[in-house]
Amino acid sequence: MQKSRITRSEPDEHGHWGKFGGRYVPETLVAPLEELTKEFMRAREDTKFWRELNQLLRDYAGRPTPLFHAQRLTAHAGGAQIYFKREDLLHTGAHKINNALGQALLARRMQKQRVIAETGAGQHGVATATVCALFGLRCVIYMGAEDVRRQALNVFRMRLLGAEVVTVNAGARTLKDAINEALRDWVTNVHDTYYLLGSALGPHPYPLIVREFQSVIGREAREQILSASGRLPRALIACVGGGSNSIGLFHTFIGDEQVRLIGVEAGGRGDLLGEHATRFHSSAASGGGRVGVLQGTMSYVLQDANGQIATTHSVSAGLDYSAIGPEHAFLHDTGRAEYISASDAEALEGFELCAKLEGIIPALETSHAIMPAIRLTRELPKDDAIILNLSGRGDKDVQLVADLQRR
Ligand SMILES: *Cc1c(COP(=O)(O)O)cnc(C)c1O
Repeated sequence: MQKSRITRSEPDEHGHWGKFGGRYVPETLVAPLEELTKEFMRAREDTKFWRELNQLLRDYAGRPTPLFHAQRLTAHAGGAQIYFKREDLLHTGAHKINNALGQALLARRMQKQRVIAETGAGQHGVATATVCALFGLRCVIYMGAEDVRRQALNVFRMRLLGAEVVTVNAGARTLKDAINEALRDWVTNVHDTYYLLGSALGPHPYPLIVREFQSVIGREAREQILSASGRLPRALIACVGGGSNSIGLFHTFIGDEQVRLIGVEAGGRGDLLGEHATRFHSSAASGGGRVGVLQGTMSYVLQDANGQIATTHSVSAGLDYSAIGPEHAFLHDTGRAEYISASDAEALEGFELCAKLEGIIPALETSHAIMPAIRLTRELPKDDAIILNLSGRGDKDVQLVADLQRR
C-alpha cells in the first residue's frame, strides 16, 4: 500500500480501516452485532454515559494513572528521557479494567443480565469477573484447558469474584479455542447475554469499542507530557498482543505526525513459525504473518504455507496470539506506526532491569518494550522524551521468572 499521511484513524460505517476489520461472522451474529453497534454509537454521544464511566475509572479503577519520569533507566540508557505511563497501578493490575468497565456499562445499558468472556492468561477474565461483581451481573469465562492448568491462580481469582470458569477441551486448548466457545455461547444466548471482548480484535464494532475505552490512556498521557516537558514526545512505545494497550496510547497522537508510534510484538524464541507471535513478520517459506480472517476480522494472521492458522509462542501469555487488531494492520500498511519485536530473552532482561533500576516489576508483556525503548532513546537527543506504556504489573509473572532462572 502507498504510504500516506494519516491524520486520523476512523473506520468506515462497516468497521473497515482500509481493507482491514469488518465483520466475518455467521448470519446469526449479524443482528446482535448491529444492535451492539447502534447502542455503542448512542452511548458514545451520551454525556451521562461518559460521566458515569469517568467516575468509575477514577473512584474504582484509580485513574488518572501517573506519568512517571524513569530517571535511572534514562541514565542507564544515556539518551532521551523515558517516561512510564503507569497502567500497572490500576485496580486488577493492568489496562484491561478500562475496557471491562466501559463494556460492563454497555451491557447494563442493553439490559443484559449475563456476561461472557474468553481469556488466555486469565487477566481479561479477572477484569471481567471484577466488573461483573461490581455490577451484579452473572459472569461466565471461557478458558482453554491448557491455560486453566497454567493459570491456576487466576482461575481461583475469577471464582472468588463469583464467575463461572468453563474449561475448553477443543483444539490446542488455549485462547483461540476459548474464543470459539464463547462465540458459540453468544449465538445461543444472545437475548440475555453480552459478550465482553478483551482486546482491539474481533468483528466490528469490537475493535472500535475497545479502542475508544482504552484511548483514555493516550488522552491523559498527552496532557501529562505537555505539562511535564512542555512539548510532545518523540515516540510512544508499547507492547502489542491483540493491540489494546498500544492503540489506547497511540490513538490521541495519530494526528501528531512528529510523534513516532512503535509497537513491540513477541519475538519468542526463534524465527520459525510457531516460535513467536510477530504477525508483521513477512512470510518465510514456512509461512508467517499474512492478511487473512481470524475470529471475525480481517487483519494480519500468522499462518502456514497452506493458510492454516499457526501456533504461537511467547514467554508472556498476553502477547501469545496469532492475529493482531485490524487498526494496527492499517497503521502498519500506511506506515503511520512501526512494529518491531523483542525476544523472550530480551523481555526477561527488560523485566529485571526495570525492577532493579526503577523499583517497578513490570508484566512480562510490558517487559517486551523496555530494551527496544532503551535502544530507541540512544538515537535521540537527551532533551527529547519518549513514553513507554507500562501496561501491567508483574506480580503474576514472578513465579514464572523464578522457574526460568532456576533452569
Ligand atoms: C493482556 C495484556 C497485554 C496484551 O494485550 P493488548 O490488547 O495488546 O494490550 C499487554 N500487557 C498486559 C499487562 C496485559 O495484561
